[in-house]
Amino acid sequence: MVPGAALRVVLRDAEGEPKPAEGAPAVLPSWDDHPLALPVAPGDLVLDMKLIPVELPLHGCDAPILSEERLQRWHDALLSRLPVRAVNLSVAPTFVWPGQMQTEQQQLALMEAVRERRLQDPAPFRLYAAVYEQCVYCTPDCGTGVGSFGDGTKASQVLLLAIQPDASEAFTAYILVHEVGHNFGRSHTWCPGMVGGPRPEYPAAQGLLDAMGLDILSGEEYLPEDTYDFMSYCRPTWTSGFTWRGIFEYARAYMVAAGAQRTAPRRRTDLGKPPVAVCSAGNPVRLE
Ligand SMILES: [Zn+2]
Repeated sequence: MVPGAALRVVLRDAEGEPKPAEGAPAVLPSWDDHPLALPVAPGDLVLDMKLIPVELPLHGCDAPILSEERLQRWHDALLSRLPVRAVNLSVAPTFVWPGQMQTEQQQLALMEAVRERRLQDPAPFRLYAAVYEQCVYCTPDCGTGVGSFGDGTKASQVLLLAIQPDASEAFTAYILVHEVGHNFGRSHTWCPGMVGGPRPEYPAAQGLLDAMGLDILSGEEYLPEDTYDFMSYCRPTWTSGFTWRGIFEYARAYMVAAGAQRTAPRRRTDLGKPPVAVCSAGNPVRLE
């Protein structure tokens, strides 16, 4: 679609006649000269992400295998849930990380190393995702994923994805999408009994979806009665209109304008680093 486009829906029978012939009009909207007011915007957002497989020699952990099948699943999960036209995934050479990976602080040390790499990349918008097998016990505060809250800076375009030993591929893809949501400046939405509480600005009760979801790649439908937003810890998840709009607004502010130096409010810590969300279902999320 192009900006300014409008839609008019006419129901017709098999012979091409508008239906119903009498009673309520089969045309929406019912005045021909008043097209539906659907706001549309340029659909040119492309998500660029570099995946960095991480080997952990101190633990004897090989880097995860980023097979074509796995990459396709991640690609599809991101493309179908985010307001972007395309997702470009690239795989960097394996990164041998000399540190341990058994505490949250050790996870964050890896995050800092990835951030340094990101800052050396001149691309205005490219997410750097370090991916490793969580093959050793990590204390309960460790994250299955660690996201950096997007604040418009390159420094906030980093995340960790810790593949859990028994996790399904679907769960791992959910964690990836969730962390990317943080990179787009999104906070958690409510999961009853788990992280946080109801947020007054979230439009639906119980943290459920605020509208029906449709996976344009698979055709699968997600009903608001039993599906949560992917920024929640509850599952199953899909994209709420609330999160979709938030990511879209962030993307328009920072992805489209990345080369144009558009200014926007930025969130910074005293250390000059974006806040981090350590995400682990069942554990409280803490910021630093
Ligand atoms: Zn999170």
